[in-house]
Amino acid sequence: MIKTENLQKVFRTDEVETWALNNITLEIKEGEFVAIMGPSGCGKSTLLNIVGLLDSPTGGKYFLNGTDVSNYKESQCTKLRKGVIGFVFQSFNLIDELNVFENIELPLLYMGFPSSERKVKVRQAMDRMQISHREKHFPQQLSGGQQQRVAIARAVVANPKLILADEPTGNLDSRNGKEVMDLLTELNNDGTSIVMVTHSQHDAEYASRIVNLFDGQLVSQVKL
Ligand code: ADP
Ligand code: MG
Repeated sequence: MIKTENLQKVFRTDEVETWALNNITLEIKEGEFVAIMGPSGCGKSTLLNIVGLLDSPTGGKYFLNGTDVSNYKESQCTKLRKGVIGFVFQSFNLIDELNVFENIELPLLYMGFPSSERKVKVRQAMDRMQISHREKHFPQQLSGGQQQRVAIARAVVANPKLILADEPTGNLDSRNGKEVMDLLTELNNDGTSIVMVTHSQHDAEYASRIVNLFDGQLVSQVKL
């Protein structure tokens, strides 16, 4: 599903050059649950963003489902992402002005689903994430755990094959964190591939493989 060859990302500003990723060669098969670990600043988010087509590499190759997408333009990436990749972030990234239903509905609106289909799919996603009872609430009226469940519902509403999660439990207490990890595990058991960045060894143990980065390089992998 995901294959990178000598992937590089260099951020250049006026004076500084940051090698965020240095020759990352990595393969992730459909159905896997992979945790990416490593110290702050080692390139985890950069790697996840490139895998999710939110950013592009400055060197090396990235194949998504066999297609070389290394040099895809932004518009091509946006098109390819739709319905294929869902994102979950540490800070939830919900829209404060929209209620729970409307937040989850957004990807379907972008994809042009008719209203009747949107309703069915949003209800299914809300049920799955056990958030239906908060349908009309706004993000600020929800606990952190509930907000992350809404964010996961939004990530899965279009039935993506791949979920990318960047420190999904980073802002949650341990009880809500466990709930989020259990939901991700359930999605993985249902066939969704998951790539998750985490600082927590405990969370990483939900995965089937841990990839360790250090200073932009892949230093080791552990199969669980
Ligand atoms: P992590 O997620 O592991 O904490 P990041 O992938 O966010 O690390 O960052 C890797 C390195 O790239 C860091 O040194 C960071 O400062 C740098 N970096 C990340 N994004 C940018 C950017 N947009 N511009 C310049 N430097 C960046
Ligand atoms: Mg990060």
